[in-house]
Amino acid sequence: MYTAIGYAAQSATTPLAPVKFERRSPRADDIAIEILYCGVCHSDIHQARNEWGIAVYPLMPGHEIVGKVTAVGANVTQHKVGDLVGVGCMVDSCRHCEACQANLEQYCLEGPTMTYATPDRVDGSNTMGGYSDSIVVSEHFVVRIPEKLNLASAAPILCAGITTYSPLKHYGVKAGDKVGILGMGGLGHMGIKFAKAMGAEVTLFTRSASKAEEARRQGADHVIVSTDDAQMQAAAGHFDFLLDTIPVQHDLNPYLDTLRFDGVHILVGLIEPVEPPVHAAKLVLGRRVLAGSLIGGIAETQEVLDFCAEHNITCDIEMLDIRQINEAYARMIAGDVKYRFVIDMATLKV
Ligand SMILES: [Zn+2]
Ligand SMILES: [Zn+2]
Repeated sequence: MYTAIGYAAQSATTPLAPVKFERRSPRADDIAIEILYCGVCHSDIHQARNEWGIAVYPLMPGHEIVGKVTAVGANVTQHKVGDLVGVGCMVDSCRHCEACQANLEQYCLEGPTMTYATPDRVDGSNTMGGYSDSIVVSEHFVVRIPEKLNLASAAPILCAGITTYSPLKHYGVKAGDKVGILGMGGLGHMGIKFAKAMGAEVTLFTRSASKAEEARRQGADHVIVSTDDAQMQAAAGHFDFLLDTIPVQHDLNPYLDTLRFDGVHILVGLIEPVEPPVHAAKLVLGRRVLAGSLIGGIAETQEVLDFCAEHNITCDIEMLDIRQINEAYARMIAGDVKYRFVIDMATLKV
């Protein structure tokens, strides 16, 4: 064991504050990482405030981690001291179930061990995330950061990036497909970039016309203002695929109308009940699919990092001093960040 530092919430109603805590010494298959940057995800806020009812305190968020390897266990073969590496939303899984065998650890039938607020599979301790100076993770759950990528702006690829890349890849988005992206936050702006890089014709759906120019700057070919009924109706039967990154309840029915037959509407942001209800006819009459997708497996997380390096894709970020984390949460809730805060972990030590 050794003493680490970081920022954690002690309860659902207290702001994040500095803490000292114990990290385990690396086990045989573990890698110890000095954290250089960590992205700030909306899930961090939900969990810190126990909005999903599954928080464990003290709760140290952070699952968009990049850093440098400082030590490796005796059996580690994939990484060595000095390597630049990343850790995303998971740090372990059962490794033998059908999902794990298929490199889909995020769907582990026993439940993956998440990067924070989950019991460690070996010692039962509460996992502590990346708002910290260091982390110790089994090598299977550590990915390599390609040299070409800027380290800080690569961090959000570990969650926002893989979350949007994986469903586009899974459903085989290809050149010429018409893809609609719902919402342009941390996830949505990455979705635009990935769909464009896959050759799709990309349309952003947004509530505010003021985002049109910015959406085009991100690579969108078209913009539909979702509150404008005429624009929505003009898009009827148009899209092959909708990537829905909107994190709050919203009416899916008008969007389903914009899908062609066999079109797929995939949820990655919404994990609450769908309200108002989906009208089943909108699915049945066009053999349309309403689907969901959760992050991606470890192999695919490596794949998206390599894809980003190949296509010069990074996340647009605003660098954050960790001492401003609570203010950053308030700004994220107000939608005031383009598009991801990334903590510069050097600010933890000043
Ligand atoms: Zn996340
Ligand atoms: Zn499993």
